[in-house]
Formats: sequence, C-alpha cells, structure tokens
Amino acid sequence: MWNKLIIEEHLKDHPRVKAIQEKLKLPTLYLENYDDIWGKSKKPYLHKRDSLNLFLAQKKGQLLKLAPDAYGQAGEPHYYFIHAYNCIYECQYCYLQGYFNTPDIVIFINHEEIIQEMQRVLDEHSGKRVWFHAGEFSDSLALTHLTGELELYHEFCQKNPEAIIELRTKSVNIKELTKLTPLENFIVSFSLSPKKMSSQIDLKTPSSEARLKAMASLKDKNFKIAAHFDPIIYENNFKDHYRALLEEMQNLQLTSALEYLSLGVVRFTKDVYREVERNYPDSPLHSTPMVKSFDNKIRYNHPMRMWMMNTVKDQAIAHGVRPEALYLCMEEDAQTT
Ligand code: SF4
Repeated sequence: MWNKLIIEEHLKDHPRVKAIQEKLKLPTLYLENYDDIWGKSKKPYLHKRDSLNLFLAQKKGQLLKLAPDAYGQAGEPHYYFIHAYNCIYECQYCYLQGYFNTPDIVIFINHEEIIQEMQRVLDEHSGKRVWFHAGEFSDSLALTHLTGELELYHEFCQKNPEAIIELRTKSVNIKELTKLTPLENFIVSFSLSPKKMSSQIDLKTPSSEARLKAMASLKDKNFKIAAHFDPIIYENNFKDHYRALLEEMQNLQLTSALEYLSLGVVRFTKDVYREVERNYPDSPLHSTPMVKSFDNKIRYNHPMRMWMMNTVKDQAIAHGVRPEALYLCMEEDAQTT
C-alpha cells in the first residue's frame, strides 16, 4: 500500500518511529518539517489507490479542537484530538477529499504532548465530564497495529474517570484494543450503513457485517461501544435497509448495549461536493437531488432530511436502542432549507 516513509529528522530515534520503520521496511526520506512537502502541491485524491506516502511527524499548533455544536451528545464539552491526517480507506462521501491538498497520510508521534493538553483542558473544566474524540481526520483504529498509541490514551482515561475518549472507526483492527482492560470511559464507536449501500460507497473498508462482528466481540469483552449512522443516504427501500441493519444489530444484542447512536443525514461543503462529483461521478450519492442548505452545505431538502432521520430514529427505538442514547448529528431542527 505504501510508497515511501517520510520522517521528520528530529524524530528519527523515537521508539515509536523506529517500531513503524521496522514493521514497514520502506524506502525512507528524512526532512525537517513534514509540511515542507505534505500538501504543498496538489496530489489528486484518487492517487491514494496506488501511491500513498506515510509521513511521521510532530503535531504542532493546536493539539485539541473544540468540536462544533451537535458533534456529540449535548450538554457536555466535546473536543477532538488530532492523531493523524488522512485515511487508508476510501469512502465516497469522505470530507477529507476536499479538505486536504493530498491524500498522503501523516501519523503524529507526540501523543504525550496531546495527552498533556487533554489533561490541561480537563483540569480547566474541574470535575465536569469532558469528551475527547479521535477520528476526525483519520480512522482511529485502522493503523493501531503500527502506531502503538492506544495504551497512552487508555492510561489517561484510567487516571481521569471524568474524561471520556471516543475512538471512531470503520476498522475491525481491534487486536491492540483488546490487549487493554475495558473502561467505562473508553468508548469505541463504529460508523455503520446498511450492507448494500456500504458495499457500494465505503470503498476498502471492512464490510458492514465485519464491523458488526467486531462490535459484538468488543461488547462480549465488556468494552463500551457506540454507533454512528452517519451519513444516512437515501436509496430505494431505504426503510427496509435500515430495518435489516437494526435487526442484525439486535440479533447480536448490540442495540441495547449502545452508549449512544448518532444519526446524521449526508451533507457536504461545496468543495467536498465538487470533489465527490469529480472522483465518483457514478456514485449512488448522486441519485437523489440535493440543495444548498441553511449553512451553505449541500444536503437533501429539509423535509426529506427530517423524514429520514425520524424514520431511522423510530426504527432504532423499536429495535431496542434506548431513546436517551439517540442524538441527531450536525442538524438544526429549527432551520429550514
Ligand atoms: S473511514 Fe472516515 S476518514 Fe476514512 S475514508 Fe472513510 S469517511 Fe474518510
């Protein structure tokens, strides 16, 4: 999968860098700062299929970002931390295709500094629960067999019961995770779509069934699990497809075990939408009309979004998801298109 490894010079003796080098055995280039090269010239997104470089770097600047409203369950502060840029998978709706200038992956190595910042933010909120989400700019489990950072974040949660970490993923790479003890405040959340849609648009990801199996295995080992039905995409027999997904989850006793289930209907910024049209002209994403919405994002019209969201919400409750575990993601009830 990888073309070459590009490492910031000052990290060359770092044990996690050496471990990655040892595992991958790739031609390696050293440089002072990863962003002297990374994203400096446009590399088309689909080049990730046959030429992907892996950068190992130090995350500088902002290590945590306050998450936008409706990012997580309401009423508590939510932050995301940035452990990597870009992803080995290729979901057709992925916003990364219009966000960065390159699909090359950056893995940040300075987790201790990120965790220090998490501790500072947590202390600032003194005694309140604070959420820290991984997986905003990359999948949070897909490369954990290489990157070796899970243990550090787990230790942070062990030390700080009021901190909650969410690892968002479409991966089934749970081996490193299952070496850790389950914690109340260490949640693994899986993004899920109905089987047929997922197989058409979640390219290179584990199948929907494989993700459910990984979820069930984590649940059986007493890990806290959650799910995101996001993006929900319209297709013929949309209701039947979500019913089947929820039935499958219920059969695996997943629906009642969910810490939360977020629902979000597909949406794009203008730039990402343009990339999706260019990269995936035949995608089922284009089979239902979208319009420019209240926040300039491209979405289905408001009545349709509300109908889809409420349909899936009712189905989820009927299949055993606790109503208080449901939240609507990135949607403004009060707004109309
Ligand atoms: S798993 Fe997430 S980050 Fe990776 S390609 Fe899919 S949507 Fe993008």
